[in-house]
Amino acid sequence: MFAVECSLRSPGLEDAVCSRVANARPVATRPDPLRIGKFRRPALRPVVAGAGPAGLFAALTLARFGVPPLLLERGRPVEERSRDVAAFWKSGVLDPESNAQFGEGGAGTFSDGKLTTRIGDPLVAHVIGTFAEFAGIPGLAVEAKPHVGTDRLRDFCRRMREELFWLGAEVRFGARLAEVVAEGGSVRAARLADGEEIPCTDLVLAVGHSARDTLRMLLARGAKMSSKPFAVGFRVEHPQGLIDSIQYGKAAGRPGLPPADYRLAVRAPSGRGVYSFCMCPGGEVLAASSAPEGMPVNGMSAQARNSGFANSGIVAAVSDADFGAGDVLAGVDFQKLMEARAFRKGGGDYGVPAMNLLGFLERKDRNLCRGKALAPRVVRANLSGILPPAVEEDLRFGLRKFGDAMRGFLSQEGTLYAVESRTSSPVRVERENYESVTLKGLYPVGEGAGHAGGIVSSAVDGIRGALRILEKLSD
Ligand SMILES: Cc1cc2nc3c(=O)[nH]c(=O)nc-3n(C[C@H](O)[C@H](O)[C@H](O)COP(=O)(O)OP(=O)(O)OC[C@H]3O[C@@H](n4cnc5c(N)ncnc54)[C@H](O)[C@@H]3O)c2cc1C
Repeated sequence: MFAVECSLRSPGLEDAVCSRVANARPVATRPDPLRIGKFRRPALRPVVAGAGPAGLFAALTLARFGVPPLLLERGRPVEERSRDVAAFWKSGVLDPESNAQFGEGGAGTFSDGKLTTRIGDPLVAHVIGTFAEFAGIPGLAVEAKPHVGTDRLRDFCRRMREELFWLGAEVRFGARLAEVVAEGGSVRAARLADGEEIPCTDLVLAVGHSARDTLRMLLARGAKMSSKPFAVGFRVEHPQGLIDSIQYGKAAGRPGLPPADYRLAVRAPSGRGVYSFCMCPGGEVLAASSAPEGMPVNGMSAQARNSGFANSGIVAAVSDADFGAGDVLAGVDFQKLMEARAFRKGGGDYGVPAMNLLGFLERKDRNLCRGKALAPRVVRANLSGILPPAVEEDLRFGLRKFGDAMRGFLSQEGTLYAVESRTSSPVRVERENYESVTLKGLYPVGEGAGHAGGIVSSAVDGIRGALRILEKLSD
């Protein structure tokens, strides 16, 4: 017996459809999550700030319902952005507006493009279906662990851009939202960095977890925000063959077996969670700077996952107990401090500091093994002192536990890179039913707003924000 999912043009057709298939019967029906009642046209077109997953799917949803928005992106189109990022990795010349965090496609463009999520939202299938269509990977929709790969994410961006244009949306690159203009607690306009003011009453804020300048502006404009926990640590890298042999045992190397992945988690005696984050089988470690004099790292892989190396964040949860309560942006400053320390350890010119895994555990210098890092250079360094001592100790505790769970994980061939700090947003923009609680007409969505984490859940959050705008138009 097997189940087939199909969507019907209108409710009540289930029996008619099943009558056409021998022994078929409806097992479950659910309303089309994208169904909206009749609504009036808005006087002013909505504005969406940020072309990451949240902003792109918010813009696509509005446009598909016949309300094409203006989509603002501070960075560049994916073609130019890819060149800017490659230039940074080659020469260490950072463009603060076009980099691994900023530009068409958002933070996830230079990533493994894992489309796994734990949110049980009916829109997940729609999001994965759209990635399958736009990235040209039909099988994605039925894979247990779908991943797009950075190479196909660029195709996705191009195809999404074409679709938006075709639906009448306007997409502006190099257009940074610098100011939200509000009157009487309601949004009246979006002001760009070049001073242009765009009248609007519906502004979707999908700026991601790295738009520190925009978050500061919002706080000053009266958007209610709160600090929230996130996680920091290092990125660990191993030869993929080692991880395959640990995970697959004797079967390792058998044709058809995908590069092995892992997921690890433990609670340290301090009560802090230590876990693996954004694991990239067959991937590369990358220097993911967006702000000057800061060195955050992350991981990515191509659809083929064939780099020969496996990497993952190994991070520990931090909260205002670590970065101080009372100041909403204390977590952002804490993140910045960690990244500045890593930057200095890397030689102060965008080198990525790295240390032998066993050397970190034994607190002594050991040779670095060859790895696969996309960075101006990798600098052998003692990573101790980048993180607060309590966090560093809990990471050591976690790594030892992971060595017990995966025999061979604690290997001379393991390398740690610093610093893994952009794990999620350190703040949450408070909202009710997707709208800011203090600025009417502002819809904070996605990872930067602190309401989602990961490509799929950010995209779903963007769609929900757009649907809320349409719902209000049908009030
Ligand atoms: C290297 C890396 C690898 C990752 N790998 C994965 C993965 O494999 N799977 C997964 O699920 N998640 C992954 N993530 C996380 C994922 O990318 C994010 O959760 C997701 O992209 C968040 O989407 P978003 O749209 O909320 O924000 P973002 O993707 O951050 O997009 C925000 C966009 O807004 C733009 N912007 C910022 N400020 C302004 C402004 N003031 N005006 C106009 N535009 C602005 C930015 O340039 C950016 O394009 C990864 C992240 C990174 C950095």
